[in-house]
Amino acid sequence: MKNIFYLFLALLTCFSCKAQNLVNSEIIEDNENPKLVVGIVVDQMRYDYLTRFNNKYGEGGFKRLINEGFNCKNHHFNYIPTKTGPGHTSIYTGTTPKYHGIIGNDWFDKALSRNVNCVEDNEVTPVGTVSNDGKKSPHRMLATTVADENRLFNQMRAKTIGISLKHRGAILSAGHTANAAYWFDYEHNGEGNWITSSFYMDDLPKWVIDFNTSNAAEKYFIEWNTLFDINSYTESGSDLNTFERIFNGKETSTFPYDLKALKTENGNFDMIAVTPFGNSLTTDFAINAIDAEALGKDEITDVLTISYSSTDKVGHDFGPNSIEVQDTYLRLDLDLERLFNALDKKVGKGEYTVFLTSDHGAPNVPNFSISNKIPSGLFDESKMFDEMNSFLENKFKVSGLILSRINSQIYLNHEEINANNLDLEDVKEVLSLKLLEYRLIDKVYITSEINQFEEHDGYLETLLKNGHNQKRSGDILFVYNPEVFKDTPWNRTGTDHHSGFNYDTHVPLLFFGKGIIQGQTFKRTEVIDIAPTISALLGISFPNASIGQPLEFVFD
Ligand code: ZN
Ligand code: ZN
Ligand code: ZN
Repeated sequence: MKNIFYLFLALLTCFSCKAQNLVNSEIIEDNENPKLVVGIVVDQMRYDYLTRFNNKYGEGGFKRLINEGFNCKNHHFNYIPTKTGPGHTSIYTGTTPKYHGIIGNDWFDKALSRNVNCVEDNEVTPVGTVSNDGKKSPHRMLATTVADENRLFNQMRAKTIGISLKHRGAILSAGHTANAAYWFDYEHNGEGNWITSSFYMDDLPKWVIDFNTSNAAEKYFIEWNTLFDINSYTESGSDLNTFERIFNGKETSTFPYDLKALKTENGNFDMIAVTPFGNSLTTDFAINAIDAEALGKDEITDVLTISYSSTDKVGHDFGPNSIEVQDTYLRLDLDLERLFNALDKKVGKGEYTVFLTSDHGAPNVPNFSISNKIPSGLFDESKMFDEMNSFLENKFKVSGLILSRINSQIYLNHEEINANNLDLEDVKEVLSLKLLEYRLIDKVYITSEINQFEEHDGYLETLLKNGHNQKRSGDILFVYNPEVFKDTPWNRTGTDHHSGFNYDTHVPLLFFGKGIIQGQTFKRTEVIDIAPTISALLGISFPNASIGQPLEFVFD
């Protein structure tokens, strides 16, 4: 609106050169940067969800980004493991786990000798809850995010707000200097509230308390039926099949889902995340935040990061070929339209810049693949762990030589190895050869090899090296065959993600809004390029450990 006013002024005064110059220079100054950058991560969004569901998307959501913005169609993650914590961190820091240190959602902390969560922090206290879900901060993330650099550049006058149902989705995106990160109180018996931690503030602001007391989550416990006639969902498999999770209290994995009736038996408020309405709730909260936190209200660029978690939870439970997943995306499309309309109104059309991407994709459900003659399978890691510990005990006459297995990595007990005068490299070598005997394990690497990989050693090797952090990663890494992942009681239906294969690495990357041209490319782009692109757009420093390249072809 302001720009149109200046244009009008310029036209009025066009006979006065002096006046026109004055006005023009003012226009340029006013036009430099977007008032708000909105980073959107759609958790577990495969690239083909853009194309497969395209016919059923409306004009104001995904299609608006495609039709008016720039579509990077060959966009990939460049490391293993493709998981949520590393994904969000890599998007916003422009680097990989090798440098930013977030090597998984959880990993084995060698110093503490226990598994840690990527955002757990016992030094901070929960705000808005008493549950452990509030003891979270970004302190394990070693690098800065693009939002951090924006705050530093603007002498902390810029604002950063991170929002996601998942704590790691909110916290790792927003960075170390964020004004706030808000996430959903998942811990069992949580009250369906948005919370934060003392890392950011001592008390929730009034607007968050008001949002929480407005029954915002409760009102979404309604009937989940398909948005359109279920018979028109020809892009997905049939609703009734053996590949999907069945909610407690239900006989089949079929629509409609009476969420009110299913709620108590399925994790209470946690259940909202396994429905498309978790994304609607996130959108409601984000739209409230734009006003309440005064985002994009002045000339200093603010950053809002939104991560949609329900797509991941529904994906895990029902798999990529399910009507449940398709319906979740069609409903997310409407939520995005609602968000963009709110941004048009509150920040101004053309005054903000959006990027939309995902933190990883997902493979098909193994039994679905097998039913279509595609090699696949589930691997029992805990059985392997016991078998390998016994194997090493027989071989070296020392028990408990494996400390932990997590993220397709094995952590050896260095203390025991030293105490018994065993040769560490020898133990690694023996174990890695033994691991290769498992049918579903395709490759095994020991850390000393990974550290020496060069670019020309191969594609997979590069992905492993980028995901490997010398201080935090394990001693041995194994890689499954394509379409194989670890077997858990909750994985036998549905899907999981971790690998370096295309179904896990290929995700959407769309740019839209101020400073972005309309276009598309099949040129390969990588997760590490996103943050430097936003830095370049804003003219600010790249995140400190960024190794990506600005995608200059998206700029206006
Ligand atoms: Zn994820
Ligand atoms: Zn179903
Ligand atoms: Zn996931």
